Amino acid sequence: MLTIPRIWWVRSDPCGTFSASFTVFLILYAQFVVCRILIVPWYGLCWHIPCYSVCTLLSLVSHCRAQFSNPGVVPKVSEVEEAEKLLPKVPRMCRRCKAIKPQNAHHCSSCERCVIRMDHHCPWVNNCVAIFNQKYFLLFLFYTAVCCIYSGVLLVARFISCTQNLRQCTLGGLEAGLCILTFIEALVFGLFVIIMLWDQFSALFEDLDDPQMSTEGRGSQTKYGALCDVFGEGLSYRWFLPLNPTKQTLALFHKETKSYQWLTPSVPATAAAATTTTTKTTTPASSEKSKAAPKSPNTVKIPANKEKAS
Ligand SMILES: [Zn+2]
Ligand SMILES: [Zn+2]
Repeated sequence: MLTIPRIWWVRSDPCGTFSASFTVFLILYAQFVVCRILIVPWYGLCWHIPCYSVCTLLSLVSHCRAQFSNPGVVPKVSEVEEAEKLLPKVPRMCRRCKAIKPQNAHHCSSCERCVIRMDHHCPWVNNCVAIFNQKYFLLFLFYTAVCCIYSGVLLVARFISCTQNLRQCTLGGLEAGLCILTFIEALVFGLFVIIMLWDQFSALFEDLDDPQMSTEGRGSQTKYGALCDVFGEGLSYRWFLPLNPTKQTLALFHKETKSYQWLTPSVPATAAAATTTTTKTTTPASSEKSKAAPKSPNTVKIPANKEKAS
C-alpha cells in the first residue's frame, strides 16, 4: 500500500502564495467590517454575528484545507523495479517528474508533480484542485458565496435604513468608506465565486453521457454519482463540512494509481518517456478533461515528435 502524505504546500509559486494570502485577508476584512462596524452598532449583539461568523469560519477552514492538502499527487515508486515487472509492455511515463503516469493523471507545472483527477491549478488556493481537495475547494466557493450574499444584503439594508432616517445613522465617514469597500468586495468576489462554482459543476457533469469517459473510470453515470465521487460518500451532513477524505476516496485514489496506460512494445522507452502532459495555471476550471491523453487504454502508439504539451 502506497503512503500518501497528508500535508502539502506549493512553495514554488510566489504569485499563488500571495493570491491565497490575499484571499484570506479579504475574508477576514469582510468579517471585521460586517460584525464590528455594521452589525454591532446597528443591531447590537444579535444572531447575525454567530451566523455570519460560522460561514466565515467554514470558508476559511475549507480554503486552508484546499491549500495545504495533498491534492492527489502520483506517489513516487521505483520506476526501474516497476518497469521491469511490467515488461514487455511499457507504461506511460512523465518526463517532467519522472513518475509512471496513471491514466487519469496530468502534470502540473506549478506543483511540479503529476496529479490524479486534476481539474486545474488554482492560484487563489495556491494548489491543484484534484481528487483529494476538490470537495474543500467547492466548500470554499460555496461558503464564500454565502458570506458575500449575506454581507451584501446587510449592507444594502443598512444603506436603506440610513437614507430613511439620517439622524439615527451612527456611521461616520471612515466607517461608511469601509462599508462601501466591503460592498464592492462582496459584489466582485461574490460574482467571481458563483461563476467558479457554476463552472465546477458544469465540468463535473459534462462527461456523464460520454461512454468513453465512463469506461476509463473517470466519470459516473449520473449527476448524483459524480457528486458522490467528489464528496467521497452519499449525501449527508458531511458533504457540507471540510472533513478528511473518506475511505471511498482513498480506495478510488489507489485504484487510479494502478490504472496505467500501456504502450505497445514497439514504442521505444524514450518515446514512452516523452509522453507528458503539462497544464497551465488557470483560474477557470475544467478544460483538462477534454485535453486528456489518448483514450484507448490498451494500445497506444505515440510518435515522439507529435507529442505536445497541452
Ligand atoms: Zn509529471
Ligand atoms: Zn498544481
